[in-house]
Amino acid sequence: MANLLDLPVEIFQMITHELVSSAVGGVNRSAKGRQIEGVWRLRYVCRTFAAEIERNVFSQQPKAVYYNNYYFERLVLKSLPRYIMQVKRIPGNINEGFRARLQRMTSYILQELDIKDEKQRADIIDKFYVSLRKIVNEYGLSHALWCDCGPSCLFVTQTQDSTELSVQDRLCTSLMVGAHDVLAGVLPEVSGAEKDRLFRELPFDIARILGDMESIKVILRHLETRPLLERTILTNYTGMFCIQGIINNILASDSGTTAQTLLDFHRKSLCSPARHDYNNWVHNAVHDRTTKYLHNLRAVLDFHPEGRTRVLRETMLTICARGSSEDVQEALKRVEDVDKGTVLNAPIFIAVRSGRVAAVQGCIQAGASVDLAVRSNIPTLHKDTITPLDVAMNRNDDGVADVLIKAGATIPHISQWPGTRRVYKVLRKAVSERTKVKLPDLRKFQHMSLAERKDIQY
Ligand SMILES: [Zn+2]
Repeated sequence: MANLLDLPVEIFQMITHELVSSAVGGVNRSAKGRQIEGVWRLRYVCRTFAAEIERNVFSQQPKAVYYNNYYFERLVLKSLPRYIMQVKRIPGNINEGFRARLQRMTSYILQELDIKDEKQRADIIDKFYVSLRKIVNEYGLSHALWCDCGPSCLFVTQTQDSTELSVQDRLCTSLMVGAHDVLAGVLPEVSGAEKDRLFRELPFDIARILGDMESIKVILRHLETRPLLERTILTNYTGMFCIQGIINNILASDSGTTAQTLLDFHRKSLCSPARHDYNNWVHNAVHDRTTKYLHNLRAVLDFHPEGRTRVLRETMLTICARGSSEDVQEALKRVEDVDKGTVLNAPIFIAVRSGRVAAVQGCIQAGASVDLAVRSNIPTLHKDTITPLDVAMNRNDDGVADVLIKAGATIPHISQWPGTRRVYKVLRKAVSERTKVKLPDLRKFQHMSLAERKDIQY
């Protein structure tokens, strides 16, 4: 059999052209165009084939082939840098106004960075398009690349003919390629009123999406130089550098030191956060399945809004409801007496009411007493004081009751037990283990009078 590469190139060209044409033809017929995926996979046959298929798909088709066609769009957006390099300037192949905007952006950054080396230039351009794909949603990007709106297209920007780049475009470009010095140079020009249909992500989010924490720090350093009023306006909920948004996102998803940097900036340069803002930080900093972000929670707990140094009930409620046992322990390190409080605010009662075993375990690990007795708020129990186990029994929470018992909680006499199945089972098993006495099963227990129950001795 002849080697594939011995065949004349023209044959490859003819075959690929036919293949791609039939897939494109299929676009109109079936309005699906899925065949292109099969054709695209043929690139693995050999390099010549791959190059020919790419050339056919990327530079020989009118833009109508891509627009609103999921399969074609996906191929292009996945290899955006190569598509842009190959798409020819045949009128009708791409939205020219948008292509010009992108080119102005890349020329700008190459000039600012003053890069002469060809390989480095190519890398920067590559980074620019990879980032573009990440920060602009699919709908916006495919509209911008292939729409038919002409010069009035909202994604192209108003200054289509001018060679001047808008502040917004310069800001985004420097963020997209991670050019920190260029970014620092553009920031003083940002008024905060810049809006753009294409770049809907705000600067902090662009940096976060691209995993570029240094850009976040550059922006913070810039904000520190602004007068307080301007800084406050720029960082509020509707501001271009919304600080709450980025703090919450970073607390929830970044295991580095950026959260600490953001909180330090907040403490030093902004007014104390509102109570619900602070509570949102706590909410985002706790993670029930990992301790990877524990230092983020630590940073939040050590941030004392309005000078308050104690851990608030609200904070404990959130940590118990969502956090890991380690999260709970971290909070309790900052509580002077873990057994101080009422049924509503003593940590172990908050944990028991959260219904989460991890929260209760966290309290026990932190040294909370499992037999802490506080004034009752459950009238039906007819008791002056109640313990965490009483609350768990009342809630029919067998999981939490089991943890408390294993940690040595005193079990009340059987006459005080509820007749609910799950928790009764746990209590009965625990007593039989502790005393070797066999207590009646639930059916029997339910048919006993209170006096009979009180008579049971063990
Ligand atoms: Zn358009």
